[in-house]
Amino acid sequence: MNLELHPTFDRLLKRIDFEQKLSQQAKAIWLTGLSGSGKTTIAQGLQKKLWDAGFFAQVLDGDNIRTGISNNLDFSEKDRQENIRRIAELTKLFVHTGIITINCFISPTRAIRSQAKEIIGREDFLEIYIKASLDQCEKRDVKGLYKKARKGEIKNFTGIDSMYEAPNNPFLTIDTDQLNVENSINKLFNSILPQINL
Ligand code: ADP
Repeated sequence: MNLELHPTFDRLLKRIDFEQKLSQQAKAIWLTGLSGSGKTTIAQGLQKKLWDAGFFAQVLDGDNIRTGISNNLDFSEKDRQENIRRIAELTKLFVHTGIITINCFISPTRAIRSQAKEIIGREDFLEIYIKASLDQCEKRDVKGLYKKARKGEIKNFTGIDSMYEAPNNPFLTIDTDQLNVENSINKLFNSILPQINL
């Protein structure tokens, strides 16, 4: 086929082609909060709920990022920044292929989240603050990490010996000290729906 005679075929598919095929607008739903605040639980519930409603979303979290593309990085300030840069670049690729991403990363500083927002694009970045008190997160201690951090076995642990800066003006705040899992997922689903509906 002579591509010059077929202008429609002379370039890669565009974002809008993917979005129309998937009947959705792609966004990065960026969950930030302390370890144990509920990011992963909410992300997984949201993915399922979106799926049931006909949306296509990928969850990006420590499990699939830290063990793969970022397995050569530690938790120092410099490496955290590089980790977020890689995640943001990956997220951008997903979003430009029409796929919604649900990102669960502590992403502790405003500077780090702002870097992610700049890379992904302001329009596509929905910052969600998964709010829970340190006290509550420590009580939950899902992976036993707080105990280790208190004993000094883990260094630079957010909330213990590394700071967490809450977002100033998030798209949405979900307070998991107050809401149960189901209500948290529903709250997030209902708020993002107008953003992802084509
Ligand atoms: P994170 O990914 O932020 O480290 P996880 O989702 O792994 O946190 O763990 C959160 C823990 O808190 C889970 O054990 C979950 O059952 C519990 N939890 C209690 N209330 C909520 C809520 N409203 N939303 C999410 N998780 C909650």
